[in-house]
Amino acid sequence: MKIADQNTKAVDLIKEALKKAKEYEKYHCFLSINEENALKKAAEIDKRIAKGEKVGRLAGVPYALKANFSSHEGETTAAALILEGYTAPITSTAVERLENEGAIMLGRVNLDAFAHGSSTENSYYGLTHNSKDFERVAGGSSGGSAVAVALDIVQFATGTDTGGSIRQPAAFNGIYGLKPTFGAVSRYGVVAMASSTDTIGCFARTPDDVDLVMSVMAGLDDKDSTTLEDFWQKDKLPDSSKYRIGVIKDFLSDGVDADIKAATLEHIQILKEKGHEVVEVEMPTLKYALAIYYIVQPAEVASNLSRHDGIRYGFRSEKSSSLDELYGNTRDEGFMTENKRRILIGNFVLSSGFFDAYYLKAQKARTLLINEFEKTFKDVDILLCPTTPMPAFKIGEKTDDPLSMYMEDLMTVPASIAGLPGLSIPAGETKDGLSIGLQLIGPRRSDRNLIALAKEIA
Ligand code: GLN
Repeated sequence: MKIADQNTKAVDLIKEALKKAKEYEKYHCFLSINEENALKKAAEIDKRIAKGEKVGRLAGVPYALKANFSSHEGETTAAALILEGYTAPITSTAVERLENEGAIMLGRVNLDAFAHGSSTENSYYGLTHNSKDFERVAGGSSGGSAVAVALDIVQFATGTDTGGSIRQPAAFNGIYGLKPTFGAVSRYGVVAMASSTDTIGCFARTPDDVDLVMSVMAGLDDKDSTTLEDFWQKDKLPDSSKYRIGVIKDFLSDGVDADIKAATLEHIQILKEKGHEVVEVEMPTLKYALAIYYIVQPAEVASNLSRHDGIRYGFRSEKSSSLDELYGNTRDEGFMTENKRRILIGNFVLSSGFFDAYYLKAQKARTLLINEFEKTFKDVDILLCPTTPMPAFKIGEKTDDPLSMYMEDLMTVPASIAGLPGLSIPAGETKDGLSIGLQLIGPRRSDRNLIALAKEIA
């Protein structure tokens, strides 16, 4: 990572990033650019460096902020009309920690509205294009973050991952994306999607950069009672001992793209050559993961989105003649179709007549899956599988078919449901030049081991 020091001016880092943002404007990763503030902050850092003062670990590093993180600077829209014009009165803990170390937000980047989606096509502000193939989707929901990093506009970007939103776009754009252990980074100030699986992570172009950014964001926070005692604050990555790595057999079936399968097998070979032991594992409960996720997650979405009613935040529909109508019209006009689909499903599975049959059953199945992971990690140290069954798909290909869009999350939701860390690493390209991602999954708090292993095979 290029960090400002005696030889590198923060202002130059920002200017270079601004220039690239302009150059790649047509990809539409940025929703807003923070030019004036960014340059001002950079100049302050340069001044402090010139005076010989101590600056932070990310001094002058431009980064892209996913637009669902609250910050005093600019609007926090989560790419949804219903939050348009909303300026958050708070700054999320993650942003605060990054800025305290001197990182500079270049701008807010695009996402599927409220992070609902796998392509960034659900953004109210229009889609983001894939960095490798303009006709294809960026992945999602953190599509803007991934593309801004892949195009080398910024050195890192923040992301949120509830069911795959960091890992899948990282895979689609050939970069690293870490979804940490649940609770590793405070969710305070980040627009909630599904609170029991929401995690805050990042995108970068090297494993070391991921480690550095995470070490800054991670740790206990009074404002989020689910945060964990910091397990990041060590100087060096753990020595990569010789691991026993389990390849998830269920995720190398015939349904997986041939090039992705070949890349996985190639990496298994590399791991063996590095002295790791690789074994196949079977996890019969995995086949229920998507079903569990698409019950539990909408239930939490429905609850979290109930606060948006046109009274407190952002957008309000003007055409209402009563309070009830105002709520209804605001929500109807302000949410995207996919948001509404999830609210409907969520309220359905939580309703008294269906709670036992859907929500409760899904939670029981979730426990079975968590237990299965625990059992598996008694036998292996780390799990390996593709990040996605297919490479980036064509723009528009799945927009009318929500179920096929949900299938995108097949390989990423299991770690989310169980709160485990998952790291997507770039693993070459398909014959058509599309990025391939492999996923490393580990037990809770093993995030840095995943990064260390990624470094070894980078
Ligand atoms: N693609 C998944 C979904 O649509 C995951 C989204 C996310 O992680 N924010 O729910």
